[in-house]
Amino acid sequence: MQNARISGDAEAQRRGEISWRLAVAVAVGRHSFKRKNHCISLRLCASASNQSGLKSPSSTHKPNYEVNHLKSLAFCALNLVTAVAFSQEKPNFIHPMDLPLEVAGNFMELRSNHFHSGLDMKTGGRIGQPVKAVADGWISRIKISPWGYGKAVYIDHPSGYTTVYGHLDHLKGAFAEATLEAQYKARDFSIDKEFARGELPVTQGEVFAYSGNTGGSSGPHLHFEVRRTSDQHALDPQAYGMNPPDNVPPSIFGLRTYALGDSSRCSPYGTGAVGFPVTALNDSTYMLKAGSNLSAYGTLGLALNITDSYSNSRNRCGVRYITVSVDGAQVYSAHLDDIDFAKQRYCNAYMDFGMYTGNSMKYNRLYKLPNNGLRIYGNEMAQGRITVEPGKDHAVQIVATDAAGNRSKLTFVLHGATAEEAAAWPSTPEPGQLFRYNEANLLVQDGVRFSLPAAALYDDERIRYAVLPKPKDALAPLHRIQDANTPLQVSGEIDVAVQDNVDDKLNSKLLIVRIVKGKPVAEGGSYANGVVTAKVRNFGDFTVMVDTLPPTLYNVDLKTNMTGRKGFKLKIGDGLSGIASWEVKLDGKWIMMEYDPGASILEHTFDKYSSAPGKHQLEASAVDERGNKSAFSFEFTR
Ligand SMILES: [Zn+2]
Repeated sequence: MQNARISGDAEAQRRGEISWRLAVAVAVGRHSFKRKNHCISLRLCASASNQSGLKSPSSTHKPNYEVNHLKSLAFCALNLVTAVAFSQEKPNFIHPMDLPLEVAGNFMELRSNHFHSGLDMKTGGRIGQPVKAVADGWISRIKISPWGYGKAVYIDHPSGYTTVYGHLDHLKGAFAEATLEAQYKARDFSIDKEFARGELPVTQGEVFAYSGNTGGSSGPHLHFEVRRTSDQHALDPQAYGMNPPDNVPPSIFGLRTYALGDSSRCSPYGTGAVGFPVTALNDSTYMLKAGSNLSAYGTLGLALNITDSYSNSRNRCGVRYITVSVDGAQVYSAHLDDIDFAKQRYCNAYMDFGMYTGNSMKYNRLYKLPNNGLRIYGNEMAQGRITVEPGKDHAVQIVATDAAGNRSKLTFVLHGATAEEAAAWPSTPEPGQLFRYNEANLLVQDGVRFSLPAAALYDDERIRYAVLPKPKDALAPLHRIQDANTPLQVSGEIDVAVQDNVDDKLNSKLLIVRIVKGKPVAEGGSYANGVVTAKVRNFGDFTVMVDTLPPTLYNVDLKTNMTGRKGFKLKIGDGLSGIASWEVKLDGKWIMMEYDPGASILEHTFDKYSSAPGKHQLEASAVDERGNKSAFSFEFTR
């Protein structure tokens, strides 16, 4: 790996970033050591699990730094020796594009239902930027999908890491051919194909693809990830050679408080506010705005609205570490530096999900909700639950650090209220049916039934219900069950009774829809005995509709004479239940169409399977989720 390191530095020198990189190396040095320990313990456990034939328990994946430090010196010494040995293997990848590194989204930034698992690198608002292998290796996987990462390439490196490149526009040369081959073999645009070492080798700096805007991307950029190959956990690319310039400390915007337990109470925010506002003394030191009056009775938790930016990008990204101390004792720490994809959705428990979805605010919870499987937390007994002493003023300090080691601090006084003081705070009794997070729950109302398995909620919740008039085109009233600001870890089941008389022939065309901002979102489901049943992973407004309309499918730019044309487009879409499948054949043979669901377009580029000269017959068909079919045919010469 010495070569990689040297060329990585050469790359940086070329960019004139070398002095900055050294500064960062010093700043993050302490953490780098911790990370190495982590890798080692994981390796040991991975090899042990191979022998037993069992999957390695994820509980061993998160290092317990604090305990490590306390354990026997011999053990630490052993770890240190192994860590040094492993550190020589830790790669320092080169940047994947010849562009200044501008970050639009960073590692473990909060997103709905997940942490962002890599760096989003800006491409100047354009597609087609050459993408290079960050180190020697081989393409181990090509995944093409209309959703998610779109066109994605995974490169395995001999160092034990995998790098992932998402939202690509297209692959280059032999890699594009291998992709097309796999698509024709599968007769599918969507493929997920693995390649053995030796099949598609790449060398460091080799261009293998071009950046794009495919899949779930809202603008041209490159999504870049570093993963540990053995368990596919995502790691922070900034610890592996990606060096966006950053001397900007995290920005703090507000603090929220949560009374934990039935008898606990927190002082109210100001009129109309959703948190206590903060004041910046300088760019890294914050205090609560004068007159904030933060008091509590019993036990409380905190959440901090905090984001981080880079020197050359104003996008609001995420921080890497947060600690909370009360009267000098640390009560909470979170290390946002490792993503286990199996636990990704617990991101909803890490953040204040309601503030995120309802107010677009990034409140990081500084205590652990009861149903939260993330292994990002330190071993402080309190796990962020702060019990205040009546009549006492507690000194609270929150410190947040970004990936480059820049820090911001919020300090404030938390007053311990007496029972009498707390009783004077306004309170509204919470309406709704109590759902316990650790039990199965059932809500039954006239015409609707909603059930959740245990551990679907992250905490106990009062679930509110209301019935609203039947929306246009609906066959049942609108059943409002809680709202989209309460997250779910796993699906529940909803039954909605069909109110109107529906011809039996149409039973298979019925589906449950969720109304979001006035528009129906298909939830699918099946009909039996007057009721439609569907699995849902959202609260919200539900009703029943019928989809009898076939998908739209029509020609965009096919001409009877296609001589000299590179390809053609068809429009495809469905008004309600959604496209289930489609197929396009040329002279009776399947041809590859790229599907862009955002633009509702199927696009063909003439290839070696479709470019013969002469007269051709094109047949296209599409089926929606309720089995309604469309067909389209066209004759052309080439
Ligand atoms: Zn991304």
